[in-house]
Amino acid sequence: MASIKRSFAKKNKINCPSNISLLKEYHKLVNKKRIEKNDEIEKLLITRPVRSLSGVVNVSVLTKPYNCPGECIYCPKETNIPKSYLSGEPAVERAKKLKYDPYLQVKNRIESLQLGGHPTDKIEVRIIGGNWSSYPKKYKEWFIKRCFEACNNKKDETLKKAQKRNETAKHRIIGMSFETRPDFINQKEIEEMLLLGATKIEIGVQSIYNDVLILNKRGHLVEDTIRATEMLKNAGFKVSYQVMLNLPGSNPQRDIEMFKELFSNPDFKPDYLKIYPCALVKEAPLYNLYLKGRYKPYTKEVLIETIKEIKKHIPIYVRIERIIRDIPSPLIVEGGAKLSNLRQLIDSQKICKCIRCREIRDIKNEEVLLFREDYDASNGKEIFLSFEDKNRKNVYSILRLRITDSDTALIREVHVYGQATPISKKGAQHKGLGMLMVKEAEKIANKKRIAIISGVGVRDYYRKKLGYRLSKTYMIKTF
Ligand code: SF4
Ligand SMILES: [Zn+2]
Repeated sequence: MASIKRSFAKKNKINCPSNISLLKEYHKLVNKKRIEKNDEIEKLLITRPVRSLSGVVNVSVLTKPYNCPGECIYCPKETNIPKSYLSGEPAVERAKKLKYDPYLQVKNRIESLQLGGHPTDKIEVRIIGGNWSSYPKKYKEWFIKRCFEACNNKKDETLKKAQKRNETAKHRIIGMSFETRPDFINQKEIEEMLLLGATKIEIGVQSIYNDVLILNKRGHLVEDTIRATEMLKNAGFKVSYQVMLNLPGSNPQRDIEMFKELFSNPDFKPDYLKIYPCALVKEAPLYNLYLKGRYKPYTKEVLIETIKEIKKHIPIYVRIERIIRDIPSPLIVEGGAKLSNLRQLIDSQKICKCIRCREIRDIKNEEVLLFREDYDASNGKEIFLSFEDKNRKNVYSILRLRITDSDTALIREVHVYGQATPISKKGAQHKGLGMLMVKEAEKIANKKRIAIISGVGVRDYYRKKLGYRLSKTYMIKTF
């Protein structure tokens, strides 16, 4: 594609056109009915197709700068930037320009995704910016309402009304995640997050060793992580752990042991992982320790080897979302965390069994089989169902079912992979894999009731296709 564009530009003595400008012209011509709509052209011109590979597009929205009560020694503190973030990070720069207005952030993002040729009817909203739980309740409600309103293209009196409208809107919020700390998780916080529409909670675990947590002034212990993990799973949330490597007090061997424990000890076993090597920046108190020679970042070789070893211990039910923060390399003082292409250097696909490394990109014409994996986690039983090819190289869909002593079984996640296809089109999303998995889960659960934690924008699907009804914030079916 690039070479065709270049030779055309050369021949006609014009600048090489960007995919975005070509797409814009293409859409204009289609709208004027001068050319016919062509899926092949759209596929060729789509920018960074990886953005919509998981079947949905992600929209990150940054909260306004606000003081987090934490004192973590590696956390950068910059005036007018949400704590733990730095100016120069792409998401921060985008938000800053829009004065951290949630409505404009979401609107802008949808527009630029559309310009890049991405379908935007299924949106996963990720709220970032320090510790969500420490923001005032009123701000949080306003913030989320504005996110829904941006997707609905309409104002509403209450959050509830905006959510109801979103159930059938053009841009549906099918998932929403918050970042918080394990010691802020309690029943009240959980209720509040459910009402806002959250489906996934990222908790800053950082380490499971209390001496490391204390040394880094995290302000919580591993016991908080264990308690929060169980409470969140019992509320149906998907649980994502942010875990840091190379923290003061740890070393490569301890880091590797930590990951082995995360997936052998039922107290942990998160569904998602973000592995962040500690990034040494001048804006964090850790820099003083470094100057005194009491902290040294891993070299790039050590970091790569450590992550490669860690990846061998990741089970198939986990999705590694990131292995590096988006901090621009010049802001990092030294060490392997400067490598922005860490993921490529590790060549994950060869060693990693996680969902992200195996999720289907282009739908293949191959047979898919239903797999089932049972494991104990957080005083319950987790059943992980997936449709995959027979060699378990390509994952087409997953479902997480949780069974505890309660008479209600929980479906914590249903996800079908493949290029995000608009709701009216055909593709992996619509081959009925999701429905088949839910029916299988209903059989396995064998309980009085099943509750699905569902993004607001998927409620209609469960209602119409599977006979579930809304009860508080869950979609419920009674047997
Ligand atoms: S809890 Fe998060 S935002 Fe708060 S100080 Fe610690 S790392 Fe920074
Ligand atoms: Zn992986």
